Amino acid sequence: MLVDTHCHLADPKLRGEVDAIVARAHAAGVGRMISVGAIGTIETDRATVAIAEANPGVFAAIGVHPHDAKDCDAARIAALRELARSPKVVAIGESGLDFHYLHSPTAAQEDALRRHLELAAELDRPIVIHCRNAEARLAAIVGAAGIPPRGGVIHCFTGDSAAARDFLALGFYLSFAGILTFKNAAASRAAAAIVPNDRLLIETDSPYLAPEPIRGRTNEPAFVGRTFDALVRVRNADRGALAAMLAANAARLFHLGAE
Ligand SMILES: [Zn+2]
Ligand SMILES: [Zn+2]
Repeated sequence: MLVDTHCHLADPKLRGEVDAIVARAHAAGVGRMISVGAIGTIETDRATVAIAEANPGVFAAIGVHPHDAKDCDAARIAALRELARSPKVVAIGESGLDFHYLHSPTAAQEDALRRHLELAAELDRPIVIHCRNAEARLAAIVGAAGIPPRGGVIHCFTGDSAAARDFLALGFYLSFAGILTFKNAAASRAAAAIVPNDRLLIETDSPYLAPEPIRGRTNEPAFVGRTFDALVRVRNADRGALAAMLAANAARLFHLGAE
């Protein structure tokens, strides 16, 4: 059984198709999914929690994406705290830093990240981190504030081995997405080879980032197997053992309980 630890089932691109998407995931051997809200308004988080509550194999992460960090005020944090009363909310995020797009100013992103770290610690949930072109700054902020007691994951990790070591030293899991299947991702594959067995996760980040050979199409959790196949090759791993390890890692980090 595979786990897609990061997808966006409430995304407008997938709207109205969630039941079929979850069914296709299960048929493809993807037993569990963590659906992340966070993009846009609090309504995305609400919709994500509703999807998780309606589907036993789906769990939710809620937060404010770094793109929208300028909207992450005290009222938004209070609304997230209220939503997190659902037992299907297993993580806070995705928060973090995106200095590539800079849809929100850096100061707002850093402030929102600190608020999310505090909220994750307060609610005793792990944190889901998005990081693009900001590895050193992110490591500095988490290093100063402290990783939440329940830990966290750097989702869609695309850095090199040095960045991987920095995040591992802070206590993070590293999650790899379909980029691992791209021709030009040699540095990510090298990083994926050095992550310890017990800190490794995979994800789709669907509907974005479809893996080869369907790159450019709408992605969905059923396709996480492509990233799994790439990881098997990169780590020269036994398929069954790697799948079991990845599922156990997801269950441990997100406290998913027994199946
Ligand atoms: Zn992200
Ligand atoms: Zn995402």
